[in-house]
Amino acid sequence: MLRDELDTIIRKLRAEYPDGDRCGLRFSDPVQLLISTILSAQCTDVRVNKTTPALFARFPDAKAFADADVKEIEELIKPCGLYHTKAANIKKCCESIVNDFGGNVPGTIGELTTLAGTGRKTANLVLGEWFGRPAYVIDTHVKRIWSLLGITGSTTPEAIEDDLRTLIPPDDPEAGEALALSHLLITHGRNVCVARRPDCASCCIKDHCRHYLNGNAS
Ligand code: SF4
Repeated sequence: MLRDELDTIIRKLRAEYPDGDRCGLRFSDPVQLLISTILSAQCTDVRVNKTTPALFARFPDAKAFADADVKEIEELIKPCGLYHTKAANIKKCCESIVNDFGGNVPGTIGELTTLAGTGRKTANLVLGEWFGRPAYVIDTHVKRIWSLLGITGSTTPEAIEDDLRTLIPPDDPEAGEALALSHLLITHGRNVCVARRPDCASCCIKDHCRHYLNGNAS
């Protein structure tokens, strides 16, 4: 795929989802962003945003989370699901931030991925959303739709990140479009290109979809 076509896809998705090119989580510092992202695994942004005000009021920074009784974190995040694992990861993650990074969320993908509960997807999100760095966020929706569009035949998040880096290099003046594209594809994956039951007739980017053009519309 050429950059021109990718820009057209971004333009069409933006027209369809005017607010879909930004993060749906509410946060006011990088610790809150990190924790909200951990909570968003298999949970909606709306539910996370309903849960975090009380959580962040009780635990205002990484030190407070590091010192917390994990049971208390569990109680507060229960509505987000997987609360045993998520609470343990949040506490461990904040212990590392305090003990290894002086209380500050680190700003490189290598450092971020040392934190509990923080894979490449979360690390890239924090880099892009908070640090304003070029970020290539690959989640299950992005991976699926990229493959359907024929943008990438790669299967691992790292390889898909590389494919996107080739199309939108980190030093490109519009490198921020990579993060916007990820948000747009996540929105499209939640609303139209739903796994196993995509609504191809309603799809604003079907003219670019190899799956659709090959006569496999659902
Ligand atoms: S045409 Fe169908 S399969 Fe292709 S991106 Fe759109 S919804 Fe998904």
